[in-house]
Amino acid sequence: AEFYADGGFTHGCSPDHLIFDFDDIGLTRTIDDVPEDVRRRYEITLQNAAEFYKSAAGVGPGFTPMGVIQGWSAESMAQAARNLASMGYDYLAIGGTVPLRIDQIRRVLQALREALPDRIRLHLLGFGKIEELAALEQYGVTSFDTTSPLLRAFKDARKNYWVRTADGDLSYYTAIRIPQATQNNKLKHKALEGSLNQEDARRLEDAALRGVRAYADGGATLDQSLDAVMDYWAALNWRDEASPSRRADAATRQRKVYAHTLGDRPWERCSCRVCRESGVEAVIFRTSNRNKRRGIHNLHVFHTHLSEFRQESI
Ligand SMILES: [Zn+2]
Repeated sequence: AEFYADGGFTHGCSPDHLIFDFDDIGLTRTIDDVPEDVRRRYEITLQNAAEFYKSAAGVGPGFTPMGVIQGWSAESMAQAARNLASMGYDYLAIGGTVPLRIDQIRRVLQALREALPDRIRLHLLGFGKIEELAALEQYGVTSFDTTSPLLRAFKDARKNYWVRTADGDLSYYTAIRIPQATQNNKLKHKALEGSLNQEDARRLEDAALRGVRAYADGGATLDQSLDAVMDYWAALNWRDEASPSRRADAATRQRKVYAHTLGDRPWERCSCRVCRESGVEAVIFRTSNRNKRRGIHNLHVFHTHLSEFRQESI
């Protein structure tokens, strides 16, 4: 509570202990037949919440304490939520849902809503399934936090540049991988093995960058640009053990994916600052700075998506 006060926070979560094993059946296990450490985590989380609620009163009127729900099933989470509400909390944060599937999250939300009066607000901690906003609306979730738009820009191999379709859905393009030849571990390894000369790699890297930029500026055709990108791709992904036909298949698939990204020119339709100022660079998968900027683009797209979703549901 002191930490939240020092930081000038408006909201703060009670310190919880994560419960890892979510029981799909749930009903079969009560507090008496879950493993000892699960029970302990459950009880400590509630004890902490009770103490935190008292301490939070001293932070000031601008501060809203949030009671964190942990449990091993929808039913145990509903019970925890009832306890937190009776402590005085009117804003609860649902923890431990990161590894859950959307149908499991739905079951949790349903159980919580049935257990709680409508005035109790719900926050979903670390909600990654952000294509599923409708589920949150259905169960009256007030808020959630997520790192997905940012992280998927460089952790998702395929869906890493987001767009919003005319129908209002989230959709994705795959950014073009042109890693720095001197920094890339795969290439370093190949250089050490002697299967790829670093100078050659640098030349291919350069050509790929020039190809993509020239295409964006109208100075090269899509195929010319893809040729350069795929030459570098082939050097990067060359595996001696793979048969020539498998290699060719993989290259054909990859070329199609990249043709979709470059052919549609999505960076020209985006109004975020990253796309406005850096253009095609936003769809090049390369170095941390650039990948994080694409994450900021994704945040922009997601923010628009969320705002429009909320407007439609009002
Ligand atoms: Zn953008």
